Amino acid sequence: MTAYDFVVRNGTLIDGTGAPRRAADVAVKGDRISAVGAPGSLRCDSEIDATGLIVAPGFIDVHTHDDTALIDNPGMAMKASQGVTTVVCGNCGASASPYTRAEINHFLSLLVKKPENIAPSFAGFAAKVEAAGPALNGAFLVGHSTLRMSAMGEDLMRPATTAETAEMRELLDASLGEGAIGMSSGLFYPVARAATTDEVAETALPLGKWGGLYTAHMRDEADDILAAMDETFEIGRRAGAPVIVSHHKTSGRGNFGRMRETLPKFEDAMKRQEISFDVYPYVAGSTILRKEMLDRAERTLVTWSDTMPSASGRDIADVARELGCTPHEAADRIHPAGAIYFMMDEADVQAAMSHPGAMIGSDGIPFDTHPHPRLWGTFPRVLGHYCRELGLFPLEDAVRRMTAYPAARFRLTGRGTVRAGAYADLCLFDAATVIDTAPSRSRSAPRSASIAFSAMARRSGVTASPQAAARAACCACRSCRPSRAPAVEGRAPSAFVAAGTFHALVTLLRLDRKRGDRAGFEALERDRLAGLLAEAVRTILDALERLVDLGDQLAEAVARAQLQGAVGLGGGAVGEIGLGQTFFLHVLQRLVRLLDEVALPLQELLAEVLLLHRVHELFAFGRPVVVRQGDRHRNRSLLTRGPGAGARSI
Ligand SMILES: [Zn+2]
Repeated sequence: MTAYDFVVRNGTLIDGTGAPRRAADVAVKGDRISAVGAPGSLRCDSEIDATGLIVAPGFIDVHTHDDTALIDNPGMAMKASQGVTTVVCGNCGASASPYTRAEINHFLSLLVKKPENIAPSFAGFAAKVEAAGPALNGAFLVGHSTLRMSAMGEDLMRPATTAETAEMRELLDASLGEGAIGMSSGLFYPVARAATTDEVAETALPLGKWGGLYTAHMRDEADDILAAMDETFEIGRRAGAPVIVSHHKTSGRGNFGRMRETLPKFEDAMKRQEISFDVYPYVAGSTILRKEMLDRAERTLVTWSDTMPSASGRDIADVARELGCTPHEAADRIHPAGAIYFMMDEADVQAAMSHPGAMIGSDGIPFDTHPHPRLWGTFPRVLGHYCRELGLFPLEDAVRRMTAYPAARFRLTGRGTVRAGAYADLCLFDAATVIDTAPSRSRSAPRSASIAFSAMARRSGVTASPQAAARAACCACRSCRPSRAPAVEGRAPSAFVAAGTFHALVTLLRLDRKRGDRAGFEALERDRLAGLLAEAVRTILDALERLVDLGDQLAEAVARAQLQGAVGLGGGAVGEIGLGQTFFLHVLQRLVRLLDEVALPLQELLAEVLLLHRVHELFAFGRPVVVRQGDRHRNRSLLTRGPGAGARSI
């Protein structure tokens, strides 16, 4: 028996620090990387052949609204398929906890779809996330607007009183004690617009005590952006907290080119306090539909509408024509709704993204019917388009902006670097082919998603207290055993949740990447495989249950997959290297054997297989380049014959 659970061999390591790539093997044991060595120096019974691939730390998506997506959609395919292993949630002032009201405020509905997913305390919310067992790690900010709504109800068009500010401060303090990593604000949004600088700064005071950070969707990202930057920096200084400016942009045609003002201003302020910012790689933004933003945008696409669902995915001008009114009136009539606004300059986006202070965050909104492509495409787009195609920065620097740098800025101890002792969050991709498939790039011919990823997220426990934080439970699969992690520098670290399932799937995918690996695939110990697959199947069935619950929204999911040119469950790997084609098949084949072994009634088995197959078809549907008719047909025949399963027929 070897000392490791598995070794990633023959890959090219980019360790996240910005250091030049090098050939190296990486050994994993439990939830940690146990060794990084010269090629061929680390051996294990289970090996993942990474020939031709970059081995990098799992990406950290520093700007997300995935708070409750982690609960409702624990597979997190939209992020896992990009190589993301950690999401930072609770941005722009909106978090699902601590929220002490029963009804979900309209603003909060951006990220919370089910009342049972909100919680009056951060610890309560973290427990819900942990119970859902998502595939990725989560780190959580507390939203200033959420605090406002808790303390002030619907009476939000005024500054908070001293007593209300004190209540907000106490809620934040308690949350930080329970493992939240900081506070976000969204003074741009109506629910927080009336908040004064003093209100936010005084609410944020506990950040200094807990080592938390302050992220800001600033009050203004257009004409008054410089004043908004001053306000943001002041709040950070007064709270004694590092500042992270969210999705830095200068929006509206009149503000094109103003990175020439904002970036030097950042540099100047960075001399005096810790400041950084995140960027998403698109010239369009997305948020709720607001009339006043229509004039600023070159073009506006509706992403969802409760009042008029058929408006989703269409230009507001188009919707207005149908309704026989102006776009402004249309916005009123289809409210509540969300939108994509084309309102930035490409040169500004590139200037911001390549600035030394920039990290990458998707800002994707997970529940939109027709979401902004950034939800599925951010990381492959930076790697493929901006790094490889445009040469905006070296690959090592692109990876650094997605890993070690954000880990340091967000205080995610032990993450973001491939080195012995670090958490085993890993991502494998093909630097020559990785690209996003967002339709905004090429509407006529969406390319296949080609990131060859493997996100190996490991469970390390949700933090309910500094003590609890220090406990890190390994993932539940059989290849890992519970382990204890050392206490982390005395303060409650971020709440991390991850499932053990994912690396199992990755192992399967990777081993099957080349036909020649069939033997190795078969040689995996039966017991270990059974354990891994049982987990995989359980996760998929859980996901299915949720899908079925969604009923006719399934059709919308297909439409979304089409729009994105994206790939589905276990997703990104599917493209050019042909992994996803076989992904479900292998799960199916193994499921057949496994369930046969445990003597599950044939009918139940069939039902499950058919259900899985249906989902496979659903997700395959959105990948015209990848899945041709013939493939799908072949898949179906494989399903009934089960290659490698002997003469078994179902
Ligand atoms: Zn925002």
